[in-house]
Amino acid sequence: MKINKMFCDKKPLIAFEIFPPKPDVPVETIYEKLSRFEALKPDYISVTYGAGGSQKGRTIDIASMIREKHGIESMAHFTCVGHSREEIDQMVGTMHDKGLENILALRGDPPAGDVDFDFSKNRYCYAYELVEHIRSVNNFCIAAAAYVEGHVNSKRLKEDIIRLKQKVDSGVDFLITQLFFDNRLFYDFMDKVRSIGIGCPVAAGIMPIFRADQIKSITARSGCSIPASLVLMMDKYNDNPDDLRKAGVEYAAGQIRDLVENGVEGIHLYTMNRPESTKEILQAAGITG
Ligand SMILES: Cc1cc2nc3c(=O)[nH]c(=O)nc-3n(C[C@H](O)[C@H](O)[C@H](O)COP(=O)(O)OP(=O)(O)OC[C@H]3O[C@@H](n4cnc5c(N)ncnc54)[C@H](O)[C@@H]3O)c2cc1C
Repeated sequence: MKINKMFCDKKPLIAFEIFPPKPDVPVETIYEKLSRFEALKPDYISVTYGAGGSQKGRTIDIASMIREKHGIESMAHFTCVGHSREEIDQMVGTMHDKGLENILALRGDPPAGDVDFDFSKNRYCYAYELVEHIRSVNNFCIAAAAYVEGHVNSKRLKEDIIRLKQKVDSGVDFLITQLFFDNRLFYDFMDKVRSIGIGCPVAAGIMPIFRADQIKSITARSGCSIPASLVLMMDKYNDNPDDLRKAGVEYAAGQIRDLVENGVEGIHLYTMNRPESTKEILQAAGITG
């Protein structure tokens, strides 16, 4: 089923994001976890696309497995960076042939360490061009990324939101935000998005803190801010990883509770492939399947 139709029937939609195991790790490691994610009854599960197209086959295989074996709707992420037009058509065609109906259309990031990467040599420089192309060849439900604090490459949030409007107008059905740790940033972002005329559903991206080093590295790359209270929390539990994980579960649950109370249309939970912690977060947030 197309996810934009699901938004018409239910709000908020609760979605899990998972990632394919690295190429040297058997794909079965994620298949084993799918039953445990299924028990939590998400509305859909999205599967990331490895940076630069690595593990691309795995994304489609896992997204198909989620639908066929577990009966849960799925969405495949797809980045166009570094892909030729033929490769893009082949990937999108395979998704269609496998029965996938939902795609998260992304530009993607340059290969790790390539600081001088020239996007203009790509078939498409920006996600809106990929969205336009997919819309012209297929009938997918198309999601796109949004950045509550502005994309890390954008000079100003205002400029990023103008680009976001252009992307939505090129055929996007709903948006999913990058992680954020202060809900006030999300509410301000929503005011700006609505005032510029973006009317599609927006799902809030929630990343639980499980490990301090991981969060510091992700926020450094993505340009997301960490509130002072969270910095103190990570310092407090520096030598106690299990207590940090528990505090991270509580924090994420608190963010979700507040968002739901304030009418959020969707929660996109970055599960980090951890079904048990995901269960704890949903329980603490008062969300049952
Ligand atoms: C929910 C979510 C899921 C993600 N999943 C993955 C994944 O599975 N795999 C992966 O590799 N990455 C993933 N990413 C990361 C994403 O690929 C990067 O953030 C990437 O740098 C931007 O992709 P985009 O689709 O948002 O790009 P775009 O929408 O193209 O935006 C990129 C930058 O270009 C600017 N821009 C847009 N249009 C124009 C224009 N016409 N002129 C000038 N500037 C413009 C924007 O303001 C922004 O600064 C995900 C991000 C999110 C939020």
